[in-house]
Amino acid sequence: MRVAVAGAGAFGSATALALARAGIAVTVFDPAAPGDNASGVAAGMLAPVSECVFDEASAPHLDLLRRARDLWPSFVDGLDVEILRDGVRVEGAAAWLDLIDARRNALGLPTERRSDGALWIDEDWRLDARQTLATLRAAAVASGATFEAGSVERWEGGDLTLSDGRTERFGSLVIATGAALRGGDVAPETTHLTPIKGQIARLDQGPSAGPVLRGAGVYLSPARRPAVGATMEMGRDDLTPDPEKTAPLLAAATALRPELASAKVVIEVGVRASTPDGLPLVGWSARHGVMLAVGARRNGWLMAPLVAGLVTAYLTGKDPGPDAARLDARRFEREPEA
Ligand SMILES: Cc1cc2nc3c(=O)[nH]c(=O)nc-3n(C[C@H](O)[C@H](O)[C@H](O)COP(=O)(O)OP(=O)(O)OC[C@H]3O[C@@H](n4cnc5c(N)ncnc54)[C@H](O)[C@@H]3O)c2cc1C
Repeated sequence: MRVAVAGAGAFGSATALALARAGIAVTVFDPAAPGDNASGVAAGMLAPVSECVFDEASAPHLDLLRRARDLWPSFVDGLDVEILRDGVRVEGAAAWLDLIDARRNALGLPTERRSDGALWIDEDWRLDARQTLATLRAAAVASGATFEAGSVERWEGGDLTLSDGRTERFGSLVIATGAALRGGDVAPETTHLTPIKGQIARLDQGPSAGPVLRGAGVYLSPARRPAVGATMEMGRDDLTPDPEKTAPLLAAATALRPELASAKVVIEVGVRASTPDGLPLVGWSARHGVMLAVGARRNGWLMAPLVAGLVTAYLTGKDPGPDAARLDARRFEREPEA
């Protein structure tokens, strides 16, 4: 069986690695340079608790997001990927911290306050997104996968056509194109995707290690180029940096750490894809031979090994496990029950 994967972001690259490890001949097509996508600009947080506290759409899915996080250590075992486990420190005005604490309690989590009043989330992790993307790609290639420049345009009964006119035959096509293919031509389920533009500021100074810092409306993720994020611009899919939208993020970061006021700032932009329930579409499309792995919203890195495992299980005829139904690619197509 030859499998084509459209898209070399976190989902496509993790899927290529998992398929190649399972002995499947896989070719990944992507017209963009490596890392030139949402996955490449992301902060790389593997943060089920923060996401459920700070993003309403994630809140019903804490159990699933935790299972997704827990797949990371074995998925990258033996690869040059460092999973940082410094946790998250939440700072702010007392009333706002009480609100965040109440949200944590509503998720069944106990209060964890430091003596200085800050809240603490111990169990959230992070990684270097861009470096991990390169590592996954290299590992997939080492396991036999091929990456080619090319934009997938059509799929007709096993014939894959690229925008440059090339046609190749495959057993299946995995759509991992993020927010790009939403017209429903290749897979009707993609019409349920909504783009969310995300702008993130990279600084030339600030913390390079330690916990992620969260404040009202902002996070500061330590790195060689610390990340201040991120905007959530619903319905937008352009990649134009917009200082008006990022100014409040930078003001919030500077309120937390005044020394950042002198930092040089570069804005990076990515487009997330979201579904009506905030979880990705994973599994067979109604279109014969097409499998979906799209719609990760804010959690594409967190969920990459889970999604890669599901796609591999479907394509090898194995049991996809307990999370398959919740992520089913056709769940929005079904008639509501009477
Ligand atoms: C600012 C920001 C911060 C984020 N922070 C985090 C975070 O901390 N943690 C986290 O888990 N997630 C985070 N996310 C979300 C995460 O980045 C996304 O959910 C994830 O990158 C989605 O990965 P993907 O592979 O589905 O899509 P993408 O990374 O968008 O990759 C899709 C790929 O498909 C290619 N493509 C498009 N059309 C075609 C075609 N026709 N044929 C072939 N290829 C095609 C594109 O060129 C692209 O490379 C963040 C997102 C943003 C924007």
